[in-house]
Formats: sequence, structure tokens, C-alpha cells
Amino acid sequence: MVFGIKRKSLCCILFLAVISMSVSLNITFVEAATASYLIDLEDFRWNKFSLKVLVDMNEWSTYNYATAVHGALDSWVKGIWNYTRTYNNMTPTFNFLFYVSNVNSTGSYDIIISFSQNEFSQNAVGLTSYRWESKSHLPITPIMINITTYSVTADNLFIKNVAMHELGHALGLGHAYSQDTTNGPELMYSTSTMKEAVYPSTLDVYGLTMLYNGLFSQTIQLPLKVPYVMLAEGNIPSQDQTFPKDILYLITNKLEVFFTNPQEALYQPIILLVPSMLLMIIALIFGLLLRSGSKATLASITILIFANYIALIGSNLTSLGLIIILLSPSILIGASIGGFISYKITRRSIDS
Ligand SMILES: [Zn+2]
Repeated sequence: MVFGIKRKSLCCILFLAVISMSVSLNITFVEAATASYLIDLEDFRWNKFSLKVLVDMNEWSTYNYATAVHGALDSWVKGIWNYTRTYNNMTPTFNFLFYVSNVNSTGSYDIIISFSQNEFSQNAVGLTSYRWESKSHLPITPIMINITTYSVTADNLFIKNVAMHELGHALGLGHAYSQDTTNGPELMYSTSTMKEAVYPSTLDVYGLTMLYNGLFSQTIQLPLKVPYVMLAEGNIPSQDQTFPKDILYLITNKLEVFFTNPQEALYQPIILLVPSMLLMIIALIFGLLLRSGSKATLASITILIFANYIALIGSNLTSLGLIIILLSPSILIGASIGGFISYKITRRSIDS
């Protein structure tokens, strides 16, 4: 480290107007038949996976943006997996551990992603800053990624696309030379309209393969036998197959837990106290009227199911399940008390 040369590099993605995109489309089309597909590689690569990735929340971010970043990481995992399976190349087994500040943050991170109000300079919407140790070709952690949210007006697809591009830099890729693959935009091109779904290309993953085989700071050409395409999301094997579970599914499971806003998760049971008290009273009245706890329970649950059936429109099954779990005991308690009271009253009137 003492004698190692530290270098710092900034890489960014620029926002390109739709007009200039349509002009350059013709040029790309003409080139397509003969062009070689090239990408620059950086001078560093990771020597370990999983990478610990933190989304550092601030006033310019939302939980949806954090989810979008997770989606970008996910697309890299899926892209690399699809490429490896299709072309049988040895690619690095990329996986990551995902953290969000104030939710599940720990200590040290490999990559930190944060959000800014505005563009950085010259229409740059994303910025990755990295340093590395030149002898070992190892990055000095953390690599910092910054993404503009245009004062929290940017949509999730925009954030996902910019994050995916910048993460490509954080993995050690430079920029690709072509603006488009044969079936969609090139993720690692220096400019983008950022308005359509984009995924890593065969060139991007081939570049990673070469970089992790030790070809530092070179311009790599996609072999002719490999088609130049954007890798799709699909073809990921299901959980019970040989897919290493800690790459994707563990994270997906965590995501469902972590991505409820912590405050929301706290308030939800408190909010549910009011309807649960109401249902308890209804069940109690039923119990009194029907003079039977079990009949009152059935009647109350019927009402609950009917109410939830209406609430289901615009809601989801998870929250429905939560509601039923939290509300059902109150119905049972209410009905039991009602049934018990009416039974006692009845007994007393018979006794006297
Ligand atoms: Zn870039």
C-alpha cells in the first residue's frame, strides 16, 4: 500500500436528448454489419464476492429508489447467470449483500450508493468515484456511486438504469463503444435516454470475464461467435434448482422484510387496533343476540371476510393476511364474552 499508486477516476453517465439519439441511430445501423463491438476495462477488479452494497438514504431518496437499486443489482446477477449458462464461459460469480441505511445497515461497505438533488455537471446523472491499489489491482473501499433524483421527481426505471450503469463501473467496466446492441440499448455506453428498460449486454459480461482473468486497462472485443445482444431478465432457475441460493433468493427474502418503511411497519398494528376493537364489539353484540359464542364468531368472520373482499381491490394478499391474523382473535374474544354473558343471563332468568 505504501508504494502502491492510488488513482482516482470518475465515470459518469450522461443524459442524452431524444433528438440526438435519433440522429445517431442511422449511423449505428450502417455500422452494425461490419463493426466490432468494443468495451474498455478498468485497472481494478474485486477479489471477493459477495459485495456489501449500501443504499445511503437521504432527503433526495425514497424506499422505491432503494428498491430500484436492488433491481439493478438483480439484473447484473441475472445477466451474468444467463450469459454463463448460454455461452459456457467462466464468469465471476457475482453476488451481493444489500443494505439500506437506518434499516439494516452494519459497518463497512464495498459500494455505497447515495442520491443527489441535481445533475452533477454537463448533464451527468450518475457518478462513480473509485480508487484502487495499482499493484494488487484491488479497489480501495468503498466505491462511491451518486445518482441524481431531480429533487425526487425521477421515476424508478430511471434510477434503476443509472444504478445499473454505475454498478458496471464499480465492477470494473469502462464504457462500451456502441450505443445499441442488436436488441436494445447498450448499458455501458456513455450516454443514454434512460427511458426504456435496459440490461447488461453480452459484451458487458464478456468484458467482466476478461477483466477477472487479468486483462486490466484494455479494450476488449466481443468474439464473433457471441451475438451482441442485451441479456434478458428471464431464464433464472427456480429456487429448488442448483442456483446458489445466497446469490439472489436470500436477498429477495430480505427485501420483502426490509422494504416496508420501518415507521409504517410500526404504525400498522396500532392502526389495526381500532377495527379490531370494533369487531370485538360487533362479535360481542352477536354473542348477546344469538346467545352463542360460536355462532357469533361465524357471523363476525363472515362480515370480516366480506369487508376484506371489498378491501382487496387495490390491496395485496400479504396485508390481507396480516389483517386477518390480527383481527380474528378479537372476534373470537368478543364472541366468547358475548355468548358467555347471554348464557349467564339466560341461566339467571331460568333459575329465578
Ligand atoms: Zn459511465
